[in-house]
Amino acid sequence: MTEFESMNLRPELLSALKKINFEKPTEVQERAIPEVLSGKDVVVRSKTGSGKTGAFLIPIVQNLGREDYLSAIVIVPTRELALQVTTVAKQLSSDAGLRVATVYGGASIERQIHEIRRGVNIVIGTPGRLIDLIKRNELHLDRIKFLVLDEADIMLDMGFIDDITYIISKTSQNRQTMLFSATMPKEVVEIANKYMKNPLHLKIGEEEVVVSTITHYYAISDRSSKLATLLAYINEFKPQKAIIFSQTQRGAEMIYSVLKKNNFDAVLMHGGLSQSRREYSLSDFRKGTQFLIATNVAARGLDIRDVSDVINFDASEDPAVYVHRVGRSARMGANGRAFTIFIAKEKYLVWEIENMAKIKMEKIELDVEKYRTSAEPSPEDLHRRSQYGGGFGHRFSNRGGHGRSHGGNGHRFGRNRGFHGRHTGYGNKDNE
Ligand code: AMP
Repeated sequence: MTEFESMNLRPELLSALKKINFEKPTEVQERAIPEVLSGKDVVVRSKTGSGKTGAFLIPIVQNLGREDYLSAIVIVPTRELALQVTTVAKQLSSDAGLRVATVYGGASIERQIHEIRRGVNIVIGTPGRLIDLIKRNELHLDRIKFLVLDEADIMLDMGFIDDITYIISKTSQNRQTMLFSATMPKEVVEIANKYMKNPLHLKIGEEEVVVSTITHYYAISDRSSKLATLLAYINEFKPQKAIIFSQTQRGAEMIYSVLKKNNFDAVLMHGGLSQSRREYSLSDFRKGTQFLIATNVAARGLDIRDVSDVINFDASEDPAVYVHRVGRSARMGANGRAFTIFIAKEKYLVWEIENMAKIKMEKIELDVEKYRTSAEPSPEDLHRRSQYGGGFGHRFSNRGGHGRSHGGNGHRFGRNRGFHGRHTGYGNKDNE
């Protein structure tokens, strides 16, 4: 008898688990599933890649009958994660006859409404679109049995607190709630205390720490020299395979434009691009493209291995985010590198990160002047309407950047109009 069989799971679920080669539960599954099956709320601290998707989906599928109403809702921060979770949800639940729908912004709401109207049991979605559907009276959460908050820390980091609270307020009081998070900042704990019933706290594995094989470099730059600083690092340190994180979509677009202009092999991933373009980018990067330029949120939670360098074009205000991001480069086991560009007023963050992550960061002096000219994005690039529908032209024209001088200097491109408004310097933050 496998360990899944000893959990008394229904036969359709056991056969589905077999089909996808889940032979025995991972630690998070082994510890969380029996608790959820016994009716408890759980708060789980576990990393991406630990098998947490199964940990919440297995008990959901086990518990749902063929009701003709919506019984479970999974809230995730990004579309990519929504799609990843949906794939597993469909694999696990189709033999049980359950219907799954995925909802996220940037895609046709009509199609999603159509899917929901046909009758669904499980909905997986990002906060903004879920709210939209609730307000249009298309999603009714008053009978749900399960609510899952996946990647809770990043959802809060993205400013989704009000959205999540709103969604929770529309759910049935009789629900069971599961919260998953890689880190446990106090905001996450507050959500758990406020909206969960005497939850069981499970800590899976070690709290995320920075692996000692990573070397941490940083440079101090002024805003207008960030792209030149980036180019200097790339030329001098020659990363084999790097993720470059930008806080905003516009920042990501500019980095992309400059790398392309300098003949680097790069792909782009942010919330303003079409879903298919994002998927192509990810698959190209997995296949060997040297650079993936991503907004923090678009890349969060994705399982990308073999990265030699993690480059933070913008420093994050939260040291936990730094730890999470650079954790990727360590996956290859060998010597990974992290490089972060701070502007002068962010210098204190170096100290905060060093303290929290218990690491030393090494300041490097790069020959930035040498790359200043090559770091200017070309005007054509900046005006180009992306052939995939997410380029600069129409998306950003209302944000003060279109048609002005484009010197590669982020703060000229206007105020942050991201709807949760932390000022990030490079246009709109990538909220989903
Ligand atoms: P997750 O943390 O849910 O994204 O899962 C990480 C990876 O582990 C995914 O590729 C899953 O397919 C895989 N996985 C999860 N649970 C199991 C299991 N019980 N047996 C084998 N693989 C698993």
